[in-house]
Amino acid sequence: MLKFIQGKSLRFWVALGMFTALAPLTVSAIGGFVLLDLGVIHPFNDVAHRQRHEILPVQNLRVLILETDPSIDDYVELRDYRSLDTYRAQRKTIELEFSSVSEALKDEPSLLPLLTRAQANWASADQYANSLIAEATLIATPEELKLQRQFQDEITAANDKLTTIHERLAADLNDDHDTAVRAYDHAIWIAGIAAVLALQMVFAGVYLIGRVMASSVDRLVAGASRFAEGDRNHRIEIAIPPELQRVAEEFNRMIGRIHDSEQALSTLAHEDSLTKLGNRRAFDEAMVEVSARQKRFGEQTALMAVDIDHFKRVNDTYGHAVGDQAISVIADAMRRNVRPFDKVFRIGGEEFVAILPGADSFGAVDVAERLREVIASTCLETGSGNLNLTVSIGVATTKQTTEPIALLEAADAALYKAKETGRNRVTVSNYNGDDIPTQVG
Ligand code: GH3
Ligand code: MG
Ligand code: MG
Repeated sequence: MLKFIQGKSLRFWVALGMFTALAPLTVSAIGGFVLLDLGVIHPFNDVAHRQRHEILPVQNLRVLILETDPSIDDYVELRDYRSLDTYRAQRKTIELEFSSVSEALKDEPSLLPLLTRAQANWASADQYANSLIAEATLIATPEELKLQRQFQDEITAANDKLTTIHERLAADLNDDHDTAVRAYDHAIWIAGIAAVLALQMVFAGVYLIGRVMASSVDRLVAGASRFAEGDRNHRIEIAIPPELQRVAEEFNRMIGRIHDSEQALSTLAHEDSLTKLGNRRAFDEAMVEVSARQKRFGEQTALMAVDIDHFKRVNDTYGHAVGDQAISVIADAMRRNVRPFDKVFRIGGEEFVAILPGADSFGAVDVAERLREVIASTCLETGSGNLNLTVSIGVATTKQTTEPIALLEAADAALYKAKETGRNRVTVSNYNGDDIPTQVG
């Protein structure tokens, strides 16, 4: 599962977040539409259709049938022959209306028999009306009055049946209307609940993207800040998404390269290019450490200042290249003849220093004397003959002074004394202690 999650790209997480946010909205929109269409719009359309195509024609038919009564009355009582024309026109309309109503009620089989009976009543009424018209006399006879009553009874009967049809249709219509109103209420509720659920999913989607992205981006930013503050050992760990993981890997690689080049620069800045010994800068830094160790742990340290004797002559006699070679030979001799934890530096042209941690003046003189002898017995072969070199050495210790500059000055003073007293010798700095070794060399 973890592997599946880690392998997914940024694009995947954004798409998943968008889908989580949008899918419920889409579902609720489609669901809401279907619900409204089926539960509300369709029933309301049905109600409107019944109103227009069933109820109104039935109502119309009732009015038309009832309107025939005054026409017949006017003819019987007033012998108004124009009302006969009116009646004939009404009859025609009524017959057309009956056929359209029976067409409209095709879907209401329970009402069709009632309609057929109403139509039969109308047919009888019309027969009575026809008989009345056929028996026309100047004044109304009892026979005519009987026919008139029979006509009225039939249209009343037809009207009663149409009224029943109308009432039943109206009751159905009310049921449909109530169902539609209820469905509308349900639809509102369901749409509300769907909207709340959809909003929650939107927040879940946004939270999902935020979680995946934010923690990784935060780690990137924190890593970059630590790098800017100088921490070169911190590495940024990001597992998801892979795009940011690659950014973190590249960043870590870059920090590694910067770290390496800083190290290389630092080495260059602290190294003498001819002998590869530490230079004056490295010596100064090492002396700060010596001083700190002395103060913190009371550790004694000796300093050995070494200078090649009559080196100017070497350059003048054998040339500058041989002079360089001689400097390298002395550097190697120093490197080989100090203890493993001692440090050797070239701090000037043909001047060297060695720091001997833990050494008192006796120990330092031992090392210096051994070095002096080794160099004095070394023969350097050159194109212009063999070259023998000697060095003068001055020794000082932190028992005398813990100040780095003062310690170097003390060792230099001892070196100067060695030069003064004949060169190729070791001299210990002059001080009032009781462990001063005998002059050697
Ligand atoms: P002393 O015994 O008193 O130390 O005499 P010295 O000739 O060694 O001392 P001095 O200070 O008079 O001369 C040092 C010479 O070292 C002068 C300079 O030309 C030479 N020198 C300094 N640096 C280099 C270098 O890197 N290469 C070479 N070949 N010579 C150097
Ligand atoms: Mg010198
Ligand atoms: Mg010299």
